[in-house]
Amino acid sequence: MIIIRPFDPWRGRLCTCPSKFSFDPYTGCEHGCLYCYASSYVRRFHECRPKRDLLRLVRGDVARLPDNALISMSNSSDPYPPMEQDMRLTRRCLEEFQGRNLRILVITKSDLVLRDLDLLRGLRCAVTLTITTLDDDLARKLEPGAPPPSRRLDAVEKLSSEGIMVGVRVDPIIPYLNDEGLMDLLKEIRDAGAIHVTSSTFKPRPDSWARIGMVFPDVAERLRPLYFQDGERIGRSRYLPRPMRFRLMKMIADGCRELGLTFACCREGFVELNTGASCDGSHLIPARPYLSEDRE
Ligand code: SF4
Repeated sequence: MIIIRPFDPWRGRLCTCPSKFSFDPYTGCEHGCLYCYASSYVRRFHECRPKRDLLRLVRGDVARLPDNALISMSNSSDPYPPMEQDMRLTRRCLEEFQGRNLRILVITKSDLVLRDLDLLRGLRCAVTLTITTLDDDLARKLEPGAPPPSRRLDAVEKLSSEGIMVGVRVDPIIPYLNDEGLMDLLKEIRDAGAIHVTSSTFKPRPDSWARIGMVFPDVAERLRPLYFQDGERIGRSRYLPRPMRFRLMKMIADGCRELGLTFACCREGFVELNTGASCDGSHLIPARPYLSEDRE
């Protein structure tokens, strides 16, 4: 059985990700984000559980991976759910990656990633934290199981001050919920030391749409015609009307340019706005481990 798999986001025509592998130490996620798309295709998603026989499978896969392989962890879960504090499975996987010529892109909403700074230093890696708002109260409703954005920003600051390359996913943007104050968010991100931002608009599927409607019924009423009358369906997701998506992405791209951040959008079809060398932040990964002997 293979656990580090080629990344294949439903063969989506809008995906601009580089060729990479996808790795989830856990199945499901405890963070409970209302907008989560992984919950639409992972069974019992909200019962976060470790992958069975994880370390044996990881060892086997790592031995087979091509030199310089890019591993994105994680795309269908978070590698640092609360249970990772005790289980330390992601940590043990990072130990397995040491000494291999792999590129690791850590994608998380948790400042628990700071615990593994010692291991990150020994890898060719970059970390992207997802921060969708500066408003801790809004985040508590939107991402109820994840650490508040203030802690995520602190993690960005700590990682970057330790020399780790950091990007931030301002993702997703949901009109009438978190589409205001974006310049303030970008400034905080820049001041914390991140150098790249990836963003996209909310692309609901039936389950995420239902969750937004339950927690934010007024917002859902305003969004309904945008998604279901004026918007479009691409694959299994609903999209906002294209001009609206472009305006939102351009606003963030312009803000990033003003602040000296690189920018890319994710599955929007506006590659002309991208200034980052990759959409996912993998270009931040250095050519050598941070602690390599031939580096100062
Ligand atoms: S952290 Fe990611 S995988 Fe987990 S619930 Fe939120 S969006 Fe889904």
